[in-house]
Amino acid sequence: MFELYLLRPDTINALDKPMIKRILPRYVKVVNDQAIAKFQVAKRIKFEIKRNMSIEDLWKAHSNSMKQFYRTIKDVDKGKIKLNGLKKSEFSLLDLKIRLTEEIMKSCELCERKCHVNRLKGKLGNCRVGKDCLISSEHIHLGEEAHISPSHTIFFMGCNFHCQYCQNWSISQWFETGYEISSKELALRIERRRKEGCRNVNYVGASPTPSLLWVLESLKYCNVNVPVIWNSNFYMTLKTMKILDGIVDMYLPDFKYGNDKCALRLSKVPNYFEVVSRNHLLAARQAEVTVRHLILPSHLECCTFPILNWIANNIKEKCIVNLMDQFTPHWRANEYPEINRRITEEEFIKAVNYAKKLNINYIT
Ligand code: SF4
Repeated sequence: MFELYLLRPDTINALDKPMIKRILPRYVKVVNDQAIAKFQVAKRIKFEIKRNMSIEDLWKAHSNSMKQFYRTIKDVDKGKIKLNGLKKSEFSLLDLKIRLTEEIMKSCELCERKCHVNRLKGKLGNCRVGKDCLISSEHIHLGEEAHISPSHTIFFMGCNFHCQYCQNWSISQWFETGYEISSKELALRIERRRKEGCRNVNYVGASPTPSLLWVLESLKYCNVNVPVIWNSNFYMTLKTMKILDGIVDMYLPDFKYGNDKCALRLSKVPNYFEVVSRNHLLAARQAEVTVRHLILPSHLECCTFPILNWIANNIKEKCIVNLMDQFTPHWRANEYPEINRRITEEEFIKAVNYAKKLNINYIT
C-alpha cells in the first residue's frame, strides 16, 4: 500500500486537513479505526420479527429501530458502549433493511423512475438491472478525491440515468455484460481490500441504487470496520433514503444540473432538481457529505451557479464540494454541440470564483 500512496502523494496527509476534519470528522475517525462504521452498529440492533407482520408493520418497526440505532451509535461514539459489548443478533436492523429492500424490488421503486416491475422475478425496468448482482469490476481506485483515495470501488452494472456524455457508458448502458458475484464473495473482497489499506468501500456504477440489495447483503457478511460511501446520481426514492440511513457513512452525490430542462435533455431524467435537492438535504441530516459537481461546458449559468447557490443556501456547512474540471465528451456528446468539448480555463476559474464568493467549502 505504501507504493500506492507514492502514486498519489497528496492523499497521504489528506485526512489531516482542517477542512476535512471539520466537515467529515466521523468519516476520518472510521477510516482510522477510531470510530465504528454505521453498518456494524446496524447489524447489532436486535429486531424481533414476528410472523404475519405486514409491510406497514415492518416500516413502523424500522422507524422504531432507527431510534434505537441513533441512541446506540451515540453511546458507541462516546465510548459508553464497546462494539464487542453488542452481540450480533439473529435478526437485526440490517436484516430488516434487506427484507424491506426485497419488498421494494417486488414492484421496484428504488429510484424515482418508479418502474414498478418485479425485479425479484427478473423483470427489467429503466435501469435494466434484474435479480442478480452484476458488477463490471472492483478494485483499488487511486483517482478519487485525496481524502477518499485509495478507495475500494465496486462498479455495479446498469444505471437509471442515460447521461449522453457518460464516461462509464459501457457499464451504464450495458455495452458490456458484467459478471455475477455473490454477496458473500463481495464481502470477502471488501475485507481483503480494507486489509490492503483502502480507506473505504465505495459503491458506485453507473449507479448503485438499483443494486441496493447486494450492497446491504455484502455488508451483512462483512466483518471489517470500513466506512461506507454511497457514490450516486442521487435519484433515490424516500424509501431508499430511509434504508440507507444508518448504513452510509459518507454520501458522495453527483449534483449535475441546476434545472430540469438540462437534466431531461442530457440525462433523459424527469423531475431532477426537486428529487436530487431533496435527497441532498436528507443526506446532510443522515451522514457526512462530499458533493461532486462536474462542470459542463457552456452550463455555468444554467447549472453550476444555481447548484452552488442552492448548496450555499441549504447545506453549506455540512458538505465539501468538489468542483470537477475533467469533463471529456464521451459517448454521444458529439450530438450536443455545446458539450462536445472540454471546459475552458475561463469557465473553471468562473466556477471556482463563484464558489469562493459564496464561502463554499470547495476542493478542486
Ligand atoms: S432501480 Fe431500476 S427498475 Fe427500479 S425504479 Fe429505478 S430504474 Fe426502475
